[in-house]
Amino acid sequence: MIAAMSDAASHPSLLTVDLDAIAANYRLLSERLSPVPCAAVVKAGGYGLGLGPVARRLFQEGANDFFVATLDEGVALREILPQAEVHVLNGLLPGTEEIFNRHNLVPVLNDLGQIERWRRAAAERPLSAAIHLDTGMNRLGLGPDEQQRLAAAPDLLDGIHVRLWLSHFACADTPSHPLNAAQIADFRAVLARLPKAPVSLANSSGIFLGPEAHFDLGRPGVSLYGGAPNTESPNPLKQVVHLQGRILQVRQIDRGRTVGYGAGHLMTRSGRLATISLGYADGYLRYLSSRGRVFIGGREAPVVGRVSMDLISVDVTDVPEDDVLPGGLVEVIGPHQTIDDVAAAAGTIPYEILTSLGARYHRRYIGLAE
Ligand SMILES: *Cc1c(COP(=O)(O)O)cnc(C)c1O
Repeated sequence: MIAAMSDAASHPSLLTVDLDAIAANYRLLSERLSPVPCAAVVKAGGYGLGLGPVARRLFQEGANDFFVATLDEGVALREILPQAEVHVLNGLLPGTEEIFNRHNLVPVLNDLGQIERWRRAAAERPLSAAIHLDTGMNRLGLGPDEQQRLAAAPDLLDGIHVRLWLSHFACADTPSHPLNAAQIADFRAVLARLPKAPVSLANSSGIFLGPEAHFDLGRPGVSLYGGAPNTESPNPLKQVVHLQGRILQVRQIDRGRTVGYGAGHLMTRSGRLATISLGYADGYLRYLSSRGRVFIGGREAPVVGRVSMDLISVDVTDVPEDDVLPGGLVEVIGPHQTIDDVAAAAGTIPYEILTSLGARYHRRYIGLAE
């Protein structure tokens, strides 16, 4: 009992990650893709929710193909999942060939120079790779000129076992955007001129564009974690994150007084404020100053004034006093406001809300893999 109390006292705000919900989202995305298999993108530490717990649970759920961004993430994931296929999206930087090999990681080759270096590393035994063909992002991957050169000289791939031809949508979260169909057409055209191998295009929102976007492997990230695939239809995914801020103080404040740095909020009536233990250092974005809100017993309490590093103030005048007591918890993300809602209020996307979730929260997992 004492241990439980001191635990709560030393960890002011509470982040609960529902791995059962991630598993349910993986199943829903798999059904959408069926019969095409579903990979899992777990870059940035499982979109900020914890690489180990997230990856282990997805593997238990049947995911076998994983994608991370950086080589370090790949090495960390290899420790966690000795059996899985681990692809490193950011590519093969010079001098890292040996690390990829030692940890049995699959590089996503992003230009002809990377292909050439992997071919040399494959002189003794064939090595697996994914190859990224850029079809409209103009970010990573072989551009049109390099694609033509590769198609004209397939021996550039000698010794390389192409596990996957990969491309990435720029506008899949806007289903009606013409670039979606254009990317599919361009991808098909270049694939027809390259050696046969499995093909992957769709991220989370791409999966919801329908079968012509599915090819041989889906590659969702944000929708595993509850983020809406687009804003044009209701979000079919389960919420994964429950973030609760702890009430530190409740104070009475007179009409005419101001609140916080810069005197950013003027009290136009007398009322009560609660000071909550989270701020921009915890990823509660400063843009939410006078824009965010929390829920207490299902009632809304607006953020008033500026978000501080470690604190926010919320107006609880309209919340019953018994519901607002020091030590109590308020909902910051949860059933009354999803990561999509918080992202909209903060002028950003759920990806940034998730990957900003701070290191100071006490993290609790529901449904850890056995
Ligand atoms: C991040 C990423 C994904 C996953 O995208 P979501 O929109 O989160 O589903 C898939 N493919 C590539 C290349 C990525 O960088």
